[in-house]
Amino acid sequence: MEAAASEDCCVKVAVHIRPLIGDERLQGCKDCVTVVHGKPQVQLGTHSFTFDHVYGSTASPASTMFEECVAPLVDGLFQGYNATVLAYGQTGSGKTYTMGTGIKDGCPTGLVPLAMNALFSKIETLKQQTEFQLHVSFIEILKEEVQDLLDPTSVNKAETTNGHVGKVAVPGKPPIQIRESSSGVITLAGSTERSVKTLKEMADCLAQGSLSRATGSTNMNNQSSRSHAIFTITLEQMHKLNPTIAGDSILNDCMSEEYLCAKLHLVDLAGSERAKRTGSDGMRFKEGVHINKGLLALGNVISALGDEKKRKEGVHVPYRDSKLTRLLQDSLGGNSRTVMIACVSPADINAEETLNTLKYANRAR
Ligand code: ADP
Ligand code: MG
Repeated sequence: MEAAASEDCCVKVAVHIRPLIGDERLQGCKDCVTVVHGKPQVQLGTHSFTFDHVYGSTASPASTMFEECVAPLVDGLFQGYNATVLAYGQTGSGKTYTMGTGIKDGCPTGLVPLAMNALFSKIETLKQQTEFQLHVSFIEILKEEVQDLLDPTSVNKAETTNGHVGKVAVPGKPPIQIRESSSGVITLAGSTERSVKTLKEMADCLAQGSLSRATGSTNMNNQSSRSHAIFTITLEQMHKLNPTIAGDSILNDCMSEEYLCAKLHLVDLAGSERAKRTGSDGMRFKEGVHINKGLLALGNVISALGDEKKRKEGVHVPYRDSKLTRLLQDSLGGNSRTVMIACVSPADINAEETLNTLKYANRAR
């Protein structure tokens, strides 16, 4: 029995079921995930789960998902609320497709490009009264280390003998560190923060970072991602109020301006499949263990946040258990808004991982 979706919960969970893709069709896979008509409910075998939203493989283009899940978060930025969008799921389930952080996707239909569009449209309507500044950063967390995807000095696309395309860190460069200010604001020390003025500039940052994202091949998917990729947009705004004249005295300058700063993290998480399924060597297994550390901590944090009873009792939220949750700390829970999009394949050969994903997502709400 699942509880009804609660409006005031700070974490919303949606499921995105992609269509069967070429490989699966060739193997003669059957569709094993059904959406209950008219309800945000998914069935897999004897299991049934209810979420805030379900996007099936046939209907609902990305724009519906954007309007329902992400547009409110973009709007919230203008009120100063931080937000996080997370794409979760096994490798090949459609995380990168859903987010639109990939390199090849020609059509800008992913959630990230749509968020950028919405952001710039809104800025356009407000720029008379408000001054805006935008920054982006694009990092990835691989083996519990933060790497800068926008660093111009690192060497990208280095081909190793295995044909792995990856990023080569510059020797001697200090590692990027996650810091917390006394007011609880999380910053990354040592990562590139790019100031952007136009949609084109922002899109270029996304494209550049996507290109340098480290990938390695496993037997599940050539472009398998073992890292969490985090594209962060920071919006600073200075509201220009009319100078207020009260009686004879003109109010202090700083009183007539209102400053707000908020950030939106768009996260393409590492593949959620078990390390054993990659069938790789000891080295890769270690990466699997680390990836699971981030995903495990994220699951624990989100489940602690989503549980109203626990929240009221002031239960400890274990942000410090991984780099991922540490980095997202000021944008998960509290006053911030979070959406998790659980991506799944409908194919029967993936039923076990799909069930794991639905269980994980179900725990998050
Ligand atoms: P992940 O990032 O989770 O590993 P991808 O986003 O790379 O998965 O998707 C795996 C494959 O499935 C890609 O070839 C992608 O184009 C395709 N795909 C994913 N989602 C969809 C969708 N909603 N419609 C059509 N094809 C999709
Ligand atoms: Mg991917």
